[in-house]
Formats: sequence, C-alpha cells, structure tokens
Amino acid sequence: MLILLDPGHGPFTAGKRSPDGRLREYHVNAAIAKFVKEALCGVADCQLTTTGEKDVPLWERSQLANHLKADLFVSIHANAYGSNWNAVSGIETYVAPRASKQSHIVAKAVQAQLVKSTGRLDRGVKTGNFHVLTRTKMPAILVEVGFMTNRVECDLLLSEEYQRKCAMAIVAAICATL
Ligand SMILES: [Zn+2]
Repeated sequence: MLILLDPGHGPFTAGKRSPDGRLREYHVNAAIAKFVKEALCGVADCQLTTTGEKDVPLWERSQLANHLKADLFVSIHANAYGSNWNAVSGIETYVAPRASKQSHIVAKAVQAQLVKSTGRLDRGVKTGNFHVLTRTKMPAILVEVGFMTNRVECDLLLSEEYQRKCAMAIVAAICATL
C-alpha cells in the first residue's frame, strides 16, 4: 500500500499566503503532510510529491503518482476566500467530477473526521476540476483544512497543535477506509 501525500504548492509560490503574510500556505501543507507521513509509518508506505526545494509543477505531481502506481493520493491545502480578511471559514474535501467510488468513500471519511476532530464548520465533500484529482489514476482527494483568510483559522493553521490534529484526523480516516 503506497500513499502519496501532496503538500500543495511550494515555498516560493506567489500569492499563497495569509493577508498579513505571516502564513505561507506551503508551510502549513508540508507540516501536516509530514505529521501524516510519520503517523502512517508502519501502516503504509508514504511518499511526498515535493520536499520544498522548488515549486513542483502539477503535471509532475500527477505523473509521479501514476508512475509509482500509488494506491491513494492525498493533496493537502489551506483555503482562501479573496485576498483580505473575512468571515468565510471551515473545512472542505474535493474529489474529481467523475471520481471513483473509492475516492468518494475516502473523501467522506476524511471530511467527517477532520470536522469532528477540529470542530470547524463542515463545508462538505465537493467536486473540483483540480489537475491532481483529474489526472491521477488512483483514488484521489484534496483537503482544505481551513481558511488562511479567516483570522481565527489563520492562527489555528499556524499552530502545531492544529496541524497535528488535522494530520491525525486524516490518518484515522485513511486507516478506517483501507
Ligand atoms: Zn492551495
């Protein structure tokens, strides 16, 4: 069982940050991916699509997943609504428009566990035309673990406690659906 974890974007990706610049999305995504990888060690093989030395393009990420014949692809992101602070908040999980049944099962489980563990607003499982979801040949999900444009969630996303909470929720849900 190989799980490919995809911390969204890269440390140098323009724009992907909180309105005050304190939070860079990649750093949150990478921290959560690292905790997921550590927790899944011994349960499943885990690899990362990027280690953050450079911004890895999307096609390279999906190509790697297909080349490795990963059993599951999990892309980890923090959300944004506009570029200024606002009240939009919560957690959502995406699957491709024509996703497999297995993708839906994993997405539902991960979304439910993330909401349960964090207590944040449940925005539900949604479909999205994201490259890493539509071009990967295995079950694939993309999680948005909170809004960096929401002051409360920005602080949460920056805290290691919340990052670990999200990671453990993702791990629990994956283990429950394996
Ligand atoms: Zn993102």
